[in-house]
Amino acid sequence: MAGVEKNGAKRGGRTRLVHAGRAPFDQHGFVNTPAWRGSTVLFPSVEELYARRQPYIYGTHGTPTTHALEAAWTEIAGAAGTVLAPSGLSAITLALLSVVKSGDHILVSDSAYRPTRIFCDTVLKRLGVETHYYDPLIGGGIAALIGPATSLVLVEAPGSQSFEMQDIPAIAAAAHQRGLCVVMDNTWATPLFFPPHERGVDMAVEAGTKYLSGHSDLLLGLVSANEKWFPKLKATSDAMANVPGAEDVFLALRGLRTMDLRLREAERQGLALARWLQARPEVSRVLHPALPEDPGHALWKRDFLGSSGLFSIILKPASKAAVAAMLDGLELFGMGYSWGGFESLVIPFDCSPYRTATRWAPEGPALRFSVGLENIEDLQDDLDRGFARMRASV
Ligand SMILES: *Cc1c(COP(=O)(O)O)cnc(C)c1O
Repeated sequence: MAGVEKNGAKRGGRTRLVHAGRAPFDQHGFVNTPAWRGSTVLFPSVEELYARRQPYIYGTHGTPTTHALEAAWTEIAGAAGTVLAPSGLSAITLALLSVVKSGDHILVSDSAYRPTRIFCDTVLKRLGVETHYYDPLIGGGIAALIGPATSLVLVEAPGSQSFEMQDIPAIAAAAHQRGLCVVMDNTWATPLFFPPHERGVDMAVEAGTKYLSGHSDLLLGLVSANEKWFPKLKATSDAMANVPGAEDVFLALRGLRTMDLRLREAERQGLALARWLQARPEVSRVLHPALPEDPGHALWKRDFLGSSGLFSIILKPASKAAVAAMLDGLELFGMGYSWGGFESLVIPFDCSPYRTATRWAPEGPALRFSVGLENIEDLQDDLDRGFARMRASV
């Protein structure tokens, strides 16, 4: 993160995470903004009621708690403004609905989060918006896919589960030449490791469910936008009133203060486990853009400031039963969706049933890891015993 100027002092990203969105002396000196719960906000007079000058009007328009997180995220993402949503997926749908109208055509990366595709292929389709999926490696070649009705390009890097990197500045430059909106799902890197708006993204989505929460105990989404797109985003958010609950926002503000520490530890643990897996005879490839052997490494190195603790591997050919024998006996890795918590997770996955622009046909079964904060030797021992079960089962 770049530094920030305040009272002439240059402040670093970590200082910003600690101070952003906090005003202790507006609340009797208490350090943290509490969870303000409420629907009704009272007005002291008829005149005030009609004037709507109060900072708070009604629960769906925001509370001091939601405003604290929005202000902090705006500062951290380098945006003009931020709105919150009750999940990462609802943040994606809000960003898309802020741009599209009936008759539009949108371009979505073939490696995008699968529920994003489902929204495009069902709700947006029903509303008369046509989605075209493109090869995530297309770069500036996206220009050839832009037609008169194209209004939006969705990018996500690295790709969900498959970890392809995208040349986001090149895609954004081509999209902006034709006046399109560039929406990014930036959940993997967060603004700490990929400053989205500096790199040409108009609206950036974060599933706060992942590293902002960090504790697998809440669902939240955030959309930050630049000057050009924030008014449309805000108006759409106000019209839909798809708002998160006060406790979840409170917990996200708490997670924000330690997010840099947790993310850097996730990066360290993730790289350590990825390198260990690379050396295993059962593993064919590790899909992790921060590894020099990864095909997306040069783009990652050019544009990103770090990597998080989520990556995938392709095993050498093995039967379904052998993979199940490995996974079923794991003691420390849980099996479940979501990621970015303090605990390690693993899931098997297969992108082949839903890809349309590219083919997913790896040489063996695929696994995705979210590395937690356990001792790395213990995680390796757990996987070592898993590989032994896999070998014994063939
Ligand atoms: C999990 C995830 C989301 C959705 O977040 P939810 O809060 O679970 O709805 C969006 N994008 C990516 C890349 C994710 O991994």
